[in-house]
Amino acid sequence: MLPGPTLIRQCSKCGGEYSERTIRSGNTFGADFWSDGFSIAPMLPENHFLVKCPHCKNISWKENDKILRELELHDPEFEKWYKPEYLLPEAEDFLYALKDEKINTNSEREIYFRIKLWHFSNRKFRGGKNRDQNFLQIEVDNLMKIIKLLDLEDERERLIVAEIYRELAYFDESLKLLDFEFSDDYKWKSDSLKQKVLQKDRFVYKF
Ligand SMILES: [Zn+2]
Repeated sequence: MLPGPTLIRQCSKCGGEYSERTIRSGNTFGADFWSDGFSIAPMLPENHFLVKCPHCKNISWKENDKILRELELHDPEFEKWYKPEYLLPEAEDFLYALKDEKINTNSEREIYFRIKLWHFSNRKFRGGKNRDQNFLQIEVDNLMKIIKLLDLEDERERLIVAEIYRELAYFDESLKLLDFEFSDDYKWKSDSLKQKVLQKDRFVYKF
């Protein structure tokens, strides 16, 4: 992984400055990919679009916060200008973002927030845990909204909807969507999901 410059941004609420580390290039070596799209890639850190100010805890769409300075790692003044890094938003912060008209400005963002919430909902199931539990009603409502927002004509989105139906144990609905001529890029994933559907397994899993 090749680090890029550290950006110093300014919180649009309190004016406080915070740092954002960037990367120039990365790779998915050693990465875990999950059926709900969640992944952990040590050599390719996630780009967080929603961030929490380390000073006032305000939630913002990162790109709306002005960049004041770009610091290269070898900059002799790095220490001088470096500021605390932004904080990672939690599930409640994504719920907040959904309700804030200034942040939730288009369906692309809404899908992003809702998919992040879905990943939080699945946290309790990852690694074979809590097999006696179900999603909470609020989590089911979120999943149903994602289904409405996605486009079944788009292969990638079609697979997301099939996965949501599977996780909700609507196995017939899931199978109907998987019965489709996927291109080579998606076929392996579709085949993998289909296997789980046929086993009536509703839990998120690692590919
Ligand atoms: Zn702030």
